[in-house]
Amino acid sequence: DAQESGRAGGSEQPVRATAGRGAFAERFGGRLVLVTGAGSGIGRATALSFAAAGARVVAVDVDGERAAHTAQSAERAGAPRAWAETVDVGDQQQMEKLAARVAEEYGTVDVLVNNAGIGVAGPFLDTSVEDWKRTLDVNLWGVIHGCRLFGAQMAERGQGGHIVNVASDAAYQPTRLLPAYGTSKAAVLMLSESLRAELAGRDIGVTAVCPGPVKTDITRTAHFVGLDEAGRRRRRARVTRLYELRNYPPEKVAKAIMRAVVRNQAVVPVTPEARGARVLARVSPRL
Ligand code: NAD
Repeated sequence: DAQESGRAGGSEQPVRATAGRGAFAERFGGRLVLVTGAGSGIGRATALSFAAAGARVVAVDVDGERAAHTAQSAERAGAPRAWAETVDVGDQQQMEKLAARVAEEYGTVDVLVNNAGIGVAGPFLDTSVEDWKRTLDVNLWGVIHGCRLFGAQMAERGQGGHIVNVASDAAYQPTRLLPAYGTSKAAVLMLSESLRAELAGRDIGVTAVCPGPVKTDITRTAHFVGLDEAGRRRRRARVTRLYELRNYPPEKVAKAIMRAVVRNQAVVPVTPEARGARVLARVSPRL
């Protein structure tokens, strides 16, 4: 049985000498890491960081070209193997097919990073049912599908693993003009805590990562409802400028994600703005 190489093992491919050194390489070298939304921003940085530690990487994105680009970069960064998968995480069928394909062709995932997310911005009362559904489909259902399908595979293998869900500081502090986004992220936080308690006995860790503003494309792709095109452009320019001023790079979030797995942390506030999560982590010993 190729899947008997210890906790977070399941390395069907021969494990070559890992690219990096240190705790990350020791922990993640040869492991199978699946990252959703890996085509850009935090997901891409995370995929490449795991790759640099010698992990095998599955880069999942709804944008196939971006996924392929990340997979190529991952092999250059040190992944023994990397694969691209074009999948909409909010689509149950596509996710079920992905889970089956990954199990069959690459093995059991050791670390799952549910990162894909979209930002739909606008006042609550102006947000259409379609925008609510789309936000919840990607940001919440995407995480549910990932946890159900890959969590079940990890549990069945019986050799542990780790699930990281990328939430946001918008999960616990209301952010103006992001009601649907904040709601979806709050749900991800609670989902993560519930699952963490449930899987603790099986040596599977669950972490919710809560970044504040990070300099990525999400501000470019964010859809601002209730505004005409010119209004959207103006608001987007303002938000982008704000994020650039803060200048918090996705690579730092990636490192925080890897540290969280090594330390098996429950809730991780990442950027200086994510102070609320720190408070949350202090007041709730279980978090
Ligand atoms: P990004 O827009 O740079 O990257 C998101 C990636 O996800 C893109 O490649 C996109 O194609 C992909 N994606 C979108 N919908 C998808 C779907 N349905 N299925 C599969 N892939 C899909 O964004 P980012 O800033 O790197 O965001 C990553 C995660 O971090 C998101 O969950 C986001 O909510 C969260 N986050 C971001 C910030 C920030 O300030 N950038 C702050 C807090 C939390």
